[in-house]
Amino acid sequence: MPSDLSPASAALVDDLVTANHILFDQGVVDAFGHVSVRHDQDPERFLLARNMAPGNVQACDIVQHMHDGTPLDPGDRRVYLERFIHGAIYRARPDVMAVVHSHSPSVLPFTVVPHARFRPVCHMSGFLGAGAPRFEIRDSAGDASDLLVRDDRLGRALAASLGNAHFVLMRGHGSTTVAPSLKLAVYRAVYGEVNARLQLQALQLGEPEYLTAGEAEAAMSSTEGQVDRPWNLWKAAAQSRRHATSS
Ligand code: MN
Repeated sequence: MPSDLSPASAALVDDLVTANHILFDQGVVDAFGHVSVRHDQDPERFLLARNMAPGNVQACDIVQHMHDGTPLDPGDRRVYLERFIHGAIYRARPDVMAVVHSHSPSVLPFTVVPHARFRPVCHMSGFLGAGAPRFEIRDSAGDASDLLVRDDRLGRALAASLGNAHFVLMRGHGSTTVAPSLKLAVYRAVYGEVNARLQLQALQLGEPEYLTAGEAEAAMSSTEGQVDRPWNLWKAAAQSRRHATSS
């Protein structure tokens, strides 16, 4: 067993910092929202930034957490209130290696209209499958909560709503997406927001022809096999904008 604070690989920490910057640069997160990755030396832990805007995260801001949300090495760093989203999903889904939680604006309407379904309208978003499930926090927290997943019990309820899906809507709040790699979690978060924009536009024209479950599955494996292409592009774009704004 690794010692208590066995470090994750430097490459994984670097990629997590990059994921934070990409998600900000691509408009998925703003001051809020977060991305985590499962520790590559210990599957019982995950890596998540301290409580801060993702666009400003650096390697020194990454904190190890246990599945129950306990931070292992916080020092004087404050951690995210909603870290329980990540831990509960890693516990429930051994296949999940990375999680993105966001309030991306185009997805939000799909969380609040009871009969609206969030479904894939194009081949880039096959990960939405037959439609994203929706988490109703009122079922667990009553009708006067602040909508935040602020403890492990609410995290477990969210993970139950996610089930075996790759993307879950959170009513009046946002969404969470999961993937077998950090790059794919970022891809799904970006294309979840893109799909929401496209679906809202299509709905203005009429009832869309959505991907069938079979099309969604086939499209997911072919497009997601090329995830390095958008990752490298988005990484370069985020880096060049960071340099432009800091110079
Ligand atoms: Mn949130």
